Amino acid sequence: MSVTVEAPPFRMFPVRLSRRERRSPSLVRLTFSDPSLAGFADRGYDQRIKLVLPKPGGLPLSAFPTGDDWWTVWRDQPVDERAFIRTYTIVAVRPDAGEIDVDFVDHGVTGPGSRFAVEAVPGDEAIIFGPNADFHGDAGGLEFRREYAGAATQLMVGDMSALPAINGIATRLPLDATGFICIEVPHAQDAGGIDAPPGVHVSWCVTDEGHDQVATVRDWLESIGPLASDDATTSVLADGAVNAYWEVTDPEAAPAEAPALSAWIAGESAQVRSLRRLLVNDFDVPRSAVNFMGYWRTGVAGS
Ligand SMILES: Cc1cc2nc3c(=O)[nH]c(=O)nc-3n(C[C@H](O)[C@H](O)[C@H](O)COP(=O)(O)OP(=O)(O)OC[C@H]3O[C@@H](n4cnc5c(N)ncnc54)[C@H](O)[C@@H]3O)c2cc1C
Repeated sequence: MSVTVEAPPFRMFPVRLSRRERRSPSLVRLTFSDPSLAGFADRGYDQRIKLVLPKPGGLPLSAFPTGDDWWTVWRDQPVDERAFIRTYTIVAVRPDAGEIDVDFVDHGVTGPGSRFAVEAVPGDEAIIFGPNADFHGDAGGLEFRREYAGAATQLMVGDMSALPAINGIATRLPLDATGFICIEVPHAQDAGGIDAPPGVHVSWCVTDEGHDQVATVRDWLESIGPLASDDATTSVLADGAVNAYWEVTDPEAAPAEAPALSAWIAGESAQVRSLRRLLVNDFDVPRSAVNFMGYWRTGVAGS
């Protein structure tokens, strides 16, 4: 009797850096290559991956655990020696060429991800933990509310770490989609690279020039007028929720009917909290219509 073993939703892809392209003062695109990437599932939108990078002077990447319990085994390795793990978004996948593009924020050499983006040379090794093309279910790691894409007004707000995800979503919206995208960038030369339908306005908040992203989003919300809310009272955030920095609704649990506004927010944790508070507390947007994600935290090394 033969037993069919289902492929895992995510798998590891050993890759090498093949190209680097500076996209703007704060953004660097790296292309990773390996024939195994023919088996990477290209799901688009805000599909996230884990990137495993070697620690200089630490364990070689060949020591990175590959079994089902890889996370536990990695966590039990000495902190000073084990590889770094960071989270990124897929920009493009070319399975036939065995290539993947990832855009890195260049925030200096203060973290292993950003350091790799600016210092790694072609041939340097990494491991990508990403969706497996042999798995045919919902692999997860993708938070945009696709079920509301055509029905609700779309609001997407983020900083440069969210730029790849926002563009991945914007390019897949229906052509008649409407809404607003607001991205905070350090410098004016960082603005650009969003391909949205004509009804989705794109605004760039340049911190160098003193632009205020929360105020910009507030102005837009005021300009579209009152939003119908199913229950504004229950939408007010409790203290604990205000301090949380990641809340996404399970599509199975989300109301079937599209809300007036569907919001996707990602970036620095304190900023995404302020933005969610603005939407839910000040503009009565139902919590279930807001997916917000702290992609990084000021002063805290991520994973
Ligand atoms: C689902 C998801 C998708 C993501 N996609 C991307 C992506 O496509 N591209 C991308 O660049 N980032 C992305 N991020 C954010 C990225 O994981 C973090 O920025 C991560 O901290 C970078 O690791 P690092 O090693 O460079 O810095 P860390 O070692 O984590 O941090 C070192 C220091 O740098 C600061 N820091 C970290 N990130 C930034 C930043 N963006 N700007 C300024 N200072 C920073 C930290 O506060 C800390 O003080 C994503 C995060 C998540 C959760």
